[in-house]
Amino acid sequence: MSARTTLACEIDLEAPGKRHGFLRLPHSTHESAYGFIPIPIAVIARGTGPTVLLVAGNHGDEYEGQVALGRLIREVEPAQVSGRLIILPAANFPAARAGRRVSPLDDGNLNRLFPGDPDGSITEQIANHIANILLPMCDAVIDLHSGGSSLMYTPSALIRRSDDAAHFARSVAALKAFGAPLSYVVIPGTNGGRTLSDTAFQRGVLHIGTELGGGGHATPEAIRIAERGIAGVLRHLGAADIPWDADAPTRPTRILDVRGADYYVHAPDPGVFEPLAELGAEVREGRPAGLIHHTETPWRAPTPVSFARDGVVLVKRWPGMTARGDCLFHLGTDTGL
Ligand code: CA
Repeated sequence: MSARTTLACEIDLEAPGKRHGFLRLPHSTHESAYGFIPIPIAVIARGTGPTVLLVAGNHGDEYEGQVALGRLIREVEPAQVSGRLIILPAANFPAARAGRRVSPLDDGNLNRLFPGDPDGSITEQIANHIANILLPMCDAVIDLHSGGSSLMYTPSALIRRSDDAAHFARSVAALKAFGAPLSYVVIPGTNGGRTLSDTAFQRGVLHIGTELGGGGHATPEAIRIAERGIAGVLRHLGAADIPWDADAPTRPTRILDVRGADYYVHAPDPGVFEPLAELGAEVREGRPAGLIHHTETPWRAPTPVSFARDGVVLVKRWPGMTARGDCLFHLGTDTGL
């Protein structure tokens, strides 16, 4: 019995060729009694080979992947594909249209709601369709994220650590094929196990995530890293031959670990955050990470924040205004992989 979904796909995902259209999610509102939410989807398929699901806009304010997958839809032709690419460039479409991390319709954070629920909220229905209709068709999934509005990453790709040595080796090989400047390995279930990548991991589907930049904008550099990485992984998987990485066919990556709470720095006080470490910097335990300035009580000395361990700065908070509990930094440490 196939899984239940509330979304109707306008295009045939099975036949060879290239098609685009929308996943129609019925949404009855005051303005539109019989309307649907149009979630863009495309397929490019030819012959036999792996099926790869490429997702962006899982968080709506993370733009590099949305831009790169738009180019994939416009430029890649079936002759370049051996297998099938299913492309979902604005997965949480209401959030992507609003340029927000979460959906303005139900406050749904898609990447915290997998594997979804066909009887749930709008965002849970989207998660259900991806997890239970699309993912079972796929041999691999690439989920393109960045830091969004509140974080800025050094452009990186990531996988999950696995006790299954063969699966982990395949994941590491795909990570190297993506070739981001930095890569890292996270412990499964870090975000409650409700992410698309965790769902793929739990089902033994090869998966790669990215954190390409952020700050609520997209740079040409980060978009090129996304494009080259997509081309590298699709060639590595034997799914497509796209020349986007022709200028840099091999791109060595440094693979880091991200583990426990001591890798993270959180704001101990509200105020204005002054970061004192740059992305990619090597830092030491106890080194100053930043200052929290008390602009409402400026006679009070700023609160110093320090790193709890040695490591490489992978991400920093982007906006100045900061609440107690906001993530200011997280680090990675060398894996030797
Ligand atoms: Ca994200």
